[in-house]
Amino acid sequence: MSPIDAPPPIYEDLKLLTEVSQLLTLLDLDNVMQKVISLMSSAVGAAKASLFLHDGNNVDWDHIFLVRDLDPDQSIEVVQTVLDEGLAGWVIRNRRETIVYDTETDERWHKFPNDTTPVRSALCVPFIHDDKVLAVLTLVHPAPNHFDEHHLRLMTIVANQATVAIRNAQLFNQLHQQQRQLEVILHAIPDILLVLDNEGRILLVNEPAKKLLTVDDKAAPDPIIGEFLHHYAEVDPAIATVQRVVSKADPAHLRPFETRSERSQQDFLVTMSEWRNPGRKTAGYVVVMHDVTTLRDLHRFKDEMLKVVTHDLRSPVSLIISASEMLSFDMPPLDADSAIPQYMEIIRQATERMQGLLDDLLRAETSALRPTDPSELIQAILADLQPLATKKGHTVETRIDLPPDLILVVDPMLIREAMENYVSNAIKYTPENGHIVLHAYRTDDNRFQFVVEDNGIGIAEEHLSHLFEPYYRVQRPETEDVEGYGVGLSLVKTIIERYKGEVWVESREGKGSRFGFWLPL
Ligand code: ADP
Repeated sequence: MSPIDAPPPIYEDLKLLTEVSQLLTLLDLDNVMQKVISLMSSAVGAAKASLFLHDGNNVDWDHIFLVRDLDPDQSIEVVQTVLDEGLAGWVIRNRRETIVYDTETDERWHKFPNDTTPVRSALCVPFIHDDKVLAVLTLVHPAPNHFDEHHLRLMTIVANQATVAIRNAQLFNQLHQQQRQLEVILHAIPDILLVLDNEGRILLVNEPAKKLLTVDDKAAPDPIIGEFLHHYAEVDPAIATVQRVVSKADPAHLRPFETRSERSQQDFLVTMSEWRNPGRKTAGYVVVMHDVTTLRDLHRFKDEMLKVVTHDLRSPVSLIISASEMLSFDMPPLDADSAIPQYMEIIRQATERMQGLLDDLLRAETSALRPTDPSELIQAILADLQPLATKKGHTVETRIDLPPDLILVVDPMLIREAMENYVSNAIKYTPENGHIVLHAYRTDDNRFQFVVEDNGIGIAEEHLSHLFEPYYRVQRPETEDVEGYGVGLSLVKTIIERYKGEVWVESREGKGSRFGFWLPL
């Protein structure tokens, strides 16, 4: 091109600025940096260039481009040296662009002894964003005085524009990395994890969740939980419950709940949490389903064994009872001081107690649901147990604060059994002339609550967490004569949990106890 044909410098500068502004469309950080180097180098006729990113304090070692080809360790050493003693360090400290007209005479130029790259002049510009130096570009040339003031101004303008492109790509890069991290975390979680928006649209799932949402080798047709249910007639109750929560039909299940998938033969403990947007409105839900199949299998095995054992034990126990009765009738005349009648009585009492226990266990296994008025149950228990209480001089106070239409759908025999256990314990473990309060009420969050309070011997703190375990009894001299096997409270727990309720106890040794349970309404 002859000097007459050459485009005017102003045209070249504008072309350069247009090309730099196009960098904004690029999101790959390495690519943006390469393009910045090549555009800026060719605009000022630099022989080589180096560019590295900085966060205001440290260098981003993953993104450095140097004049020389060096291995990563050497690169780190070179950049550290030019930051401490060289031109780039000067530019960062002074936060302004500069020219080294001759590297031989300018002290800011650090000469590496083994560097054979011919460099006599340099131009260095900072890329400043948000008042911090985001990157430093150094352009070099083998001849002295190559760069001039026009180059410096042009490079400063270009650097300002390129800063936005680099920042953009950096943010995208960060986002990408965070997403990768999240993916790795999701992969590492063995539990099923679903992230839903407010309308049940599936935003994120991990591999186990994908399996749950796959029916007959087909993935869920729509990324909406409700649609999934709609498409498959046979779905998991777990997913159905999640859907009810999302559609606001069942907010109670924001408490952890257990459910079983017959399709995958798995039991899950499901925890659903809401996430909210800044306006405090529900933005969506995070659902974690923890596989508790092994635990549940063990429970089922235990229940099954219990059922078999209870059934099988009833016949021999009945036989012992009837045989001992026959024995009493057929007994030959005994000496007046014979201990045999006493032994016979011990056998009779023990086997009857055993039969009572077996009956309790059997009743817990086979139950029938019926609409039940809890006030009636309490009255019936009082009628049964009042004589026992009166015998010990206790006063029994009853507070029933229940709406007249409150009905429990339960097996009345079982709930009565649970209430009776609490009341008879209060009578047993309260010294004479005690005071016992029975309180039944509906809680604000719509549960039926039953509480039995006594001013008896109380229970020491260390026993409280074990009381509902089978066969657990507190050994105390004053209760040595109190009859019991430590199964009553564990039976109460089994019954109440069967109806998705909870048992609880509060007590202070020497002061008294409060035993309670609640049932959902
Ligand atoms: P049992 O009464 O047959 O021993 P339970 O399971 O009903 O079995 O109770 C377990 C233990 O809890 C009892 O042995 C007793 O030590 C303690 N306990 C239960 N109720 C009371 C109460 N109201 N006051 C003090 N201790 C209690």
